[in-house]
Amino acid sequence: MVIYTQKETLVQALSSTSKNDKIGFVPTMGALHQGHISLVKKALSENDLVVVSIFVNPTQFNNKADLQKYPRTPNDDISLLKNLEEEIIVYLPEVSDLYDTSVSAKKYNFGGLENEMEGKHRNGHFDGVGTIVSKLLRIVKPNTAYFGEKDFQQLQIVKKLVSIEKLPVKIVGCPILREQNGLAMSSRNKRLSAKLFEEAALIYKTLKEVREKFSSKSIAELNALVAERFLQNPHLNLEYFEIAEEKTLKTAKRKNKGSKYRAFIAAFAGEVRLIDNMPLN
Ligand code: AMP
Repeated sequence: MVIYTQKETLVQALSSTSKNDKIGFVPTMGALHQGHISLVKKALSENDLVVVSIFVNPTQFNNKADLQKYPRTPNDDISLLKNLEEEIIVYLPEVSDLYDTSVSAKKYNFGGLENEMEGKHRNGHFDGVGTIVSKLLRIVKPNTAYFGEKDFQQLQIVKKLVSIEKLPVKIVGCPILREQNGLAMSSRNKRLSAKLFEEAALIYKTLKEVREKFSSKSIAELNALVAERFLQNPHLNLEYFEIAEEKTLKTAKRKNKGSKYRAFIAAFAGEVRLIDNMPLN
């Protein structure tokens, strides 16, 4: 494994590789878990070279405390990547390598995708995501970049970003990896107590229940059912539940034949904010 902390040296190293080498890229914020590793493995299986970036991007956090408390475990991350026993290029920059002194995000119009769900609840979040993903894609210039469906809205936004900025890269979505109790793997899970870790399985259980009942119940009934499940659990606070159409991410009021729907949840387990989603049809 080679670790670069400066974009110039990374760019130089990548430009000295063969022109025919296919480059796969996995951007992460570190505190790596098997969900991240599944993306890296897919990238390794489809490319000649794989770059993994580890960078907690300040401009996508709308909450200072959340940014400060975001888990940072660079030594463990490097060990995990070394265990893969395949050559990986790691880009682990400081904020100053990617931002000038202002550390601000560009304003984006993602055709409305940015105004739904996470965009509504985390002001400016997708401007931060667009800004950093654009910077990273321009540095690494991968053939293919891998993103998890765990952040499904982010995945759709990144596809839109690439088409707006005409970046020559293929964006591949990868399935959600889960803990044994069904909780979606997340770096934020490291902040959960053992008790909350178990309680947080309610998010997955509820999404599964919605999927099972999707054909027999109306969307209004499903919305009420989810609110009720969370009210019954004193440990979890539901921030939002939405059934949305997959492409536009617009909230579905009723089911239209031929449309594909997904259920989305954001909830707090204690002070840790968790998100998850599941296809319904
Ligand atoms: P993050 O470090 O949280 O920014 O995540 C980096 C990438 O890993 C993103 O594309 C995420 O969607 C993806 N990812 C995070 N958690 C999971 C998971 N449980 N399963 C699959 N992909 C994931």
